[in-house]
Amino acid sequence: MEKSKKVKNAKFAAFIKKNLYLILMIVCVIAIATMVAVTYATKQHSTDGVVDASVDVPTDTSSEPSEPTGPSEPSEPSEPTGTPEEAEPTVTEEIVFCMPAEGEVVGVFSNDTLVYNATLNQWSTHEAYDLAAEVGTEVKCVFDGTVKSVTSSVLRGTEVVIEHKDGLTSVYSLLGSDVTVSAGQAVKKGDVIGCIAESGTFEKHKGPHLHFELRDANGEKIDPMQYFEVGNK
Ligand SMILES: [Zn+2]
Repeated sequence: MEKSKKVKNAKFAAFIKKNLYLILMIVCVIAIATMVAVTYATKQHSTDGVVDASVDVPTDTSSEPSEPTGPSEPSEPSEPTGTPEEAEPTVTEEIVFCMPAEGEVVGVFSNDTLVYNATLNQWSTHEAYDLAAEVGTEVKCVFDGTVKSVTSSVLRGTEVVIEHKDGLTSVYSLLGSDVTVSAGQAVKKGDVIGCIAESGTFEKHKGPHLHFELRDANGEKIDPMQYFEVGNK
């Protein structure tokens, strides 16, 4: 037993002796690695401490009030862009008349052809639109506008004049005296303004009818047909 122990020790000593340098190197490496690790850990810890300290510092020095930056930048009102272009379309709205009365067309606009007027026994132009219907038939305003005047005469009966946009003026002649509008009144397209009356006037030969005229911005009589829904298609 003792002999074998000695042999083992001898073998161990031989192993140590043989690998002494290797073992020393390993030990050194472990020692260096441990030192490096310890040093690094210490540095990291000390750095953390510094960081913690520096974080606290700003909060103490931030007691200085920050300068108000509001007045330096005056809020300029933003210019509304595109408004003029958007307002344009309302100006170009098409004017379309409704018929001023339900009835038979017994006279059309004619400013270059003379038409014989049996009542007046003369030839003349007829710059108007005649619609024949029974007495009491409603007469309607052809478009939105304002009543300019309501007058009466032997020749033209009761006459209503209504002004519209674009300088247009519509004239409703040969009405009964029971008109339902007065000067200055705003009227809408289709509003009843009066009724067709017994015709004791300058176009008596046509029977009871509405004599409808349209004048432009210059006061010139123009053909109303171009403004009727059926006429401008
Ligand atoms: Zn007429």
